[in-house]
Amino acid sequence: MTPISPARAILRALHDVMASSTSAQAKLNAVVAVVAEQLDSEVASIYLLRDGVLELFATKGLAQAAVHVTRLAMGEGLTGLIAATREPLNLAEARAHPDFAYKPETGEETFHSFAGVPIIRREASVGVLCVQHADPREYAEIEIEVLQTVAMVLAELIAGAGLIDDVAAAKARSAASGPVRLAGLKLVDGLARGTAVFHQPRVVIEHTVADDIEAERARVYGAFIRMREQIDGMMKQVEFAGGDTADVLETYKMFAYDEGWSRRINEAIDSGLTAEAAIDRVQQRTRAKMRAIPDPYLRERLTDLDDLSNRLIRIVSGQLGSAACSGLRGDTILLARNLGPAELLEYDRRVLKGVVLEEGSLTAHVTIVARAMGVPVIGRVGDLRTTIADGDELLVDGSAGAVLVRPSAAMLKSFAATSAVKARRQAEFAKLRDLPAVTTDGTRIALMMNAGLRDDAAALDATNADGIGLFRTEFQFLVSATLPRRERQTALYRAVLDAAGHRPVVFRTVDIGGDKAVPYMRDVAHADENPAMGWRALRLALGRSGLMKVQARALLEAGAGRTLDIMFPMVSEPWEFDAARALIEEQRDWLIGKGRALPTAVRYGAMLEVPALAEVLDVLLPKVDFLSIGTNDLTQFLFAADRANPALADRYDWLSPAILRFLRRIVVLAGAHATPLTVCGEMGGRPLEALALMSIGIERLSITPAAIGPVKAMVRSVDLGRVRAEMTRWLAVGNPTIRTDLVALADAAGIVLG
Ligand code: PEP
Ligand code: MG
Repeated sequence: MTPISPARAILRALHDVMASSTSAQAKLNAVVAVVAEQLDSEVASIYLLRDGVLELFATKGLAQAAVHVTRLAMGEGLTGLIAATREPLNLAEARAHPDFAYKPETGEETFHSFAGVPIIRREASVGVLCVQHADPREYAEIEIEVLQTVAMVLAELIAGAGLIDDVAAAKARSAASGPVRLAGLKLVDGLARGTAVFHQPRVVIEHTVADDIEAERARVYGAFIRMREQIDGMMKQVEFAGGDTADVLETYKMFAYDEGWSRRINEAIDSGLTAEAAIDRVQQRTRAKMRAIPDPYLRERLTDLDDLSNRLIRIVSGQLGSAACSGLRGDTILLARNLGPAELLEYDRRVLKGVVLEEGSLTAHVTIVARAMGVPVIGRVGDLRTTIADGDELLVDGSAGAVLVRPSAAMLKSFAATSAVKARRQAEFAKLRDLPAVTTDGTRIALMMNAGLRDDAAALDATNADGIGLFRTEFQFLVSATLPRRERQTALYRAVLDAAGHRPVVFRTVDIGGDKAVPYMRDVAHADENPAMGWRALRLALGRSGLMKVQARALLEAGAGRTLDIMFPMVSEPWEFDAARALIEEQRDWLIGKGRALPTAVRYGAMLEVPALAEVLDVLLPKVDFLSIGTNDLTQFLFAADRANPALADRYDWLSPAILRFLRRIVVLAGAHATPLTVCGEMGGRPLEALALMSIGIERLSITPAAIGPVKAMVRSVDLGRVRAEMTRWLAVGNPTIRTDLVALADAAGIVLG
């Protein structure tokens, strides 16, 4: 017997059954007859989930009187066990198994051997297909595979006939799988409850039995070519290069070109499956084999292969969109290996409540965007696909860095308690809204907020921030499928200025490139080996001056009648600032020529994100109206540690002497020139880090709106002179334990760290 012949014979027979115009019940009866005959079994039975229990729907070999009478709960008996675990069972002696449950009405006492497989739809068990035999023999592996293939066909048949209810099935699966706590890394704080939605949804296979084997072979062949092209393309795109992602792509490539994989899919097609069903069948088989290997490295590779199989099925079935394209139906927790900021922004903010990533890091732009959206994010959570299914209930606990999957009543209760504490704390922060951010020894700290989306401006009033210290204009570019037109840019800037009223708004000109890739500029943004240090931000903007000119006009027109603050990102040498400023002034002259209304004044600032600029501040500072330190980029360049690389996320500390000394030098130089200086990186939004910054002389912070309350509470509890004195001592000796020492000092001095 060749490995594929039993499957082929059975699928041929099933093809006729499926094509017949008989009732669903008649089809089920025909399927059990075909299975019993082809597997040379005395019994073949189908149990389906109805009202939460497994009901015998069709049998060949057991008493017909038991049909629609014999019922088993999920987890009850061998059948219930298979449905609950979604794993096959293959037993020479069924009675010897501790879960065996005897059902007298079936007359099954004469049978010894038993094999069964789950019938799975949308990753939930919806029934069980099983065979029994009088002789105590174990079924061969190939026979189990045949049963699994038939189970796939049955899933299609019963869904098409409306014999199962998908929602009930999902609930049954959740109940069967039980609650799980997954630990990860807190990237954005907050609490959220919602339904699991994978960014790349699994495709539901609608047709399993092929009408034309050659046509299916051609489809899968074409899909392989496209998939390989996509992977090769990704490898070339520097956006994906470096760190873990490069390793993942290497593995993808290895699988994508693996002859064994494509051969097994072709064999499954030979047996009579459609291309989608064949890819899925091979994947299920591989998954089962790899799961048995206890090596964590191989388990991770399994996720890669899952991703790739899913990609191949999406290509072959033409279902290419992410979950964002199909719309979210209720409160949602989004799950993904990783996401780009633009991908995240495609989701509806009203229902997107939380994000869980397998990768992710604190200063990656997707995290910053989520923070701006007020969406909690947990990163570096392993095994998402194997533990969570679409539709599972999830709790995201940002403070604990954990995801609770299918929470138990006790978990829900403790989550509600945490939410209440959090709400109380929020209420405490809200009470500080109208109080100034002044230390106990009288230093006023300006607390501005970071923004990038139109709705963010509402947070100005909620937090009573001193203004917007960083408006990331590129967010509008990231959400658009095409380059935003000038009118749209003007409208956004004007709306933000209107909302800000008398408070200042610092518009940062576009910072695209790096991990902020926009689809319509792939040509320029992706040509880099190392995009964070490549053709991004001001470099790209000066190179594509058309883009910058349009933005300059939009800003100047929006700022008519008021003071306009414009800041340039990634200035590396003073001449770049000059060039950018000249470009804006040129547009201003042009608008004057046209008689248009203009800002009453324009203030120009530079971001200090590239260490080299710190060495020439004596040249730069006389030219600028203000300076803002982008610690996200600056620190990645100081330590040569990619801000988006999760493996490096914990390695270097923002509170290291190197970073703090470097920042202090800038404070001193800016002070000497009386240049207003702000820190606008994520660092400033964390109370302990903000305290360290204040202790080296920083008096202006631009931070995420949610951090204003906690940071203000800290500011108002600090005797800054005392901390400053300690910090000066620590920096003088290069103290390697500033973090722990500062926490201890804060504890002793009663400083509120949230
Ligand atoms: C920074 O680099 O610190 C910064 C504020 O800019 P972005 O995070 O947008 O690169
Ligand atoms: Mg930056």
